[in-house]
Amino acid sequence: MLRESAFRMSKELGISLDEAERAVMARSGIRPQNNVRSIGSISELTPDLRGIALKVRVISVSEGVRSEGKGIYHYGSLGDSTGDIPFISWKDFPFQPGDGVLISNCSTRQYAGRVEVVIGETTDLNSIDDTTGLMPPVDDVVPMRISELTDGLRNVDVLGRADELHEVSVNVKGNPRMIVNGILLDGSGRIGFTCWGPIEMTQGGCYRIVGGNIRTYRGSLKLNFDPGAIVKRLPDDVIPPMEELTRPVPFRVHLIDEGFIPGPVILRGIVIDVRPGSGLVRKCVECGRRLHKGQCSVHGTVEGEDDLRLRAVLDDGSGTIMARAGRDIVESIMGRSMSSILEEARNNMSSDLVIEELREILVGHCWTISGDPGSDDYGPSLYISSIKPGLDGSLLTDEIMAMAEVLL
Ligand SMILES: [Zn+2]
Repeated sequence: MLRESAFRMSKELGISLDEAERAVMARSGIRPQNNVRSIGSISELTPDLRGIALKVRVISVSEGVRSEGKGIYHYGSLGDSTGDIPFISWKDFPFQPGDGVLISNCSTRQYAGRVEVVIGETTDLNSIDDTTGLMPPVDDVVPMRISELTDGLRNVDVLGRADELHEVSVNVKGNPRMIVNGILLDGSGRIGFTCWGPIEMTQGGCYRIVGGNIRTYRGSLKLNFDPGAIVKRLPDDVIPPMEELTRPVPFRVHLIDEGFIPGPVILRGIVIDVRPGSGLVRKCVECGRRLHKGQCSVHGTVEGEDDLRLRAVLDDGSGTIMARAGRDIVESIMGRSMSSILEEARNNMSSDLVIEELREILVGHCWTISGDPGSDDYGPSLYISSIKPGLDGSLLTDEIMAMAEVLL
């Protein structure tokens, strides 16, 4: 019926059959289905497009399980020279990161605040060899330094040595999922990461990770990527050894406050306060959290255990930071062991003397501390690994040398 009218129209008006068919369909309100009008570029995509074709390179691809046992789907991100975009595929997607694909007759939708490419049963997927112009191949790109990463960056390409790898089971939308947390260090800085699925990574190994994104999480930048991103093991000599990467460097508090964490740092400044929660405390035997009136915030009423804590506020002129420490550091500051501190507290029938003594020793004096900085709900914080009175001599020498260079 449709064909007949189109045929008649093409004869009468002297236009091509194709054109006539489109005109007839338009007149009867039918939208053409499989017509690939043109090949679009990713930056031009808007929500609710139909029948578009794209020439892309796969950045990452992962497998998801459809609800109610309806099989699997694929998701990930695609890129071309104009940008990158997430996709979801309801049909088999037999491609790997780096592959070139011509996607015909796909659609777009708005999902989770972004435009997403939707690959359905009627979409054609064809592998293409010529990926020229579809993002530079991985081998031609210089990865970013960790210190160059900023909030909101997508499809990042970084190198680093992996540290503190932990597999954790989390609940993602009601389904248990194995994820991997860790830290990546490259000498310019370090960044925490989460891979949102199981992945083989070795403690201390050098990796290149392509296709992740950067978000601020609890005041620090974080790299997120899917197990389907490119995660390439590199030779060991591309990044300095771990000892070098984890050696504390002289640093300033305001930079930590801005979310920039290079690794362990050395800070020097005046301790301006020793906060409640310092001194003798009772801690939860399960998790080590400090108990409040016999209660752990996670485990409820639990048996407590004596412990020593320090929460000191250090001001280095650029900002203030909460410096925390546990038993070993408090013992070294007070010059005696926990058992003798406990005995004194029992004899005096008060544990407040401990925090008072810590205040007396620390507050108003200059200290050089080193440790691992981070951020918590109250701002920048640092877990002390060593604390020394006064200025560190070598730091002072560095500063004098730097001044001399300016003056001479
Ligand atoms: Zn607890």
